[in-house]
Amino acid sequence: MGRAGGLAEACGEDQAVRSIGVAYVLWILLGLNGVHRFYCGRIGTGLLWLFTAGLFGIGWLVDAFLVPGMVREANAAARAEYGYPPPAPARVGVVGASASRVIYCTQCGSPMQVPANAVGTQYACPRCRTVLEVPA
Ligand SMILES: [Zn+2]
Repeated sequence: MGRAGGLAEACGEDQAVRSIGVAYVLWILLGLNGVHRFYCGRIGTGLLWLFTAGLFGIGWLVDAFLVPGMVREANAAARAEYGYPPPAPARVGVVGASASRVIYCTQCGSPMQVPANAVGTQYACPRCRTVLEVPA
């Protein structure tokens, strides 16, 4: 087991996947130039950030909350492009009584409400149209 094996394992199919940690580092160091937005594939708003110093600092501050979502969306797009399977099972949350509950899209993290007895049936994400099987 040499170093090469571990390295290949580390890169592997994750090569196209962006990291939230890296995105935050870029946001802190170069965020006023929109570099974190370029990193997430958002060229248009990246250029806007570049020429307006992150919408005069306001857009930059707001991005502190948007970075994880931007990274997830970029990764979902990359997975779709490279034909990777969706990641691990959706997180499940129970809402109110037992009438309905919220599940989270495995691709974009968007919440969607489904009937409580919908286990095993399929729903399309309202945001990215990924079809999810409702977990138990
Ligand atoms: Zn989605």
